[in-house]
Amino acid sequence: MDNWRIVVVDQLMDNYAYLIIDERSGVAGVVDVVEADRVLGAAEREGVRIVAILSTHHHFDHVGGNEELLAALPPGSVEVFGFRGDAERIPGITRLLEDGEDFALGSLVGRAVFIPAHTSGHVAYYFAEAGAVFTGDTLFAGGCGRIFEGDAAQMMSSLGRLAALPDSTLVYCGHEYTQTNLNFAATLEPSNQALAQRRRDVAALLKEGRCSVPTTIALEKATNPFLRTQSAELRASVRERDPSAGDDPVSILAATRRLKDNY
Ligand SMILES: [Zn+2]
Repeated sequence: MDNWRIVVVDQLMDNYAYLIIDERSGVAGVVDVVEADRVLGAAEREGVRIVAILSTHHHFDHVGGNEELLAALPPGSVEVFGFRGDAERIPGITRLLEDGEDFALGSLVGRAVFIPAHTSGHVAYYFAEAGAVFTGDTLFAGGCGRIFEGDAAQMMSSLGRLAALPDSTLVYCGHEYTQTNLNFAATLEPSNQALAQRRRDVAALLKEGRCSVPTTIALEKATNPFLRTQSAELRASVRERDPSAGDDPVSILAATRRLKDNY
């Protein structure tokens, strides 16, 4: 049996929170919380005790439930993790993490990976033993987040750090945007067979009322347009739609993001 378990918790219309559970100790961390009651309900169903909130970034739909969750649990029993440079925007933060800093969640070890661009203080949480990464609104299944507080070069660098994780790494992202993301991707790479297969797979999952998460780093590299600036078909499609786009990878990513913003 694995020493860890990850439980998806639906939030709002299309947000996901996640319980990452240490089976050895029965404690859990929750990645991003906006509806505290649903997270508490999931922890109760799973029979685990929440000892940490892992906030990926400061947007309301990711931290809006921090204070309510803290108020519902014994005082001082929950650590709130976030990026040190964004401490003033993470409600209830107690543990200010540097890029690359390791921390304990029960017997599991997590690591903060600084991935700015969607916001300037965004982090991912990587658990090597579980082979899982929580990517918030930076890397989505089949897409990436909007660039609100950075630029395309920064997004490329942040996505590159995630893409450098082992291919088998499970990717848990902040929203169920996958189908729309893949529909957009197919407009740029109609000949990508892995993408076509993935669209069928995701459609089948959603039809059954299931979620499309987790994905893997390998699947993202094969199908996610924001990790595929080297694809000749994608580059040609992007430059056909946006003749002003340069041919270097950052320009292609920037133009892809603009096309997606208007999709
Ligand atoms: Zn966000």
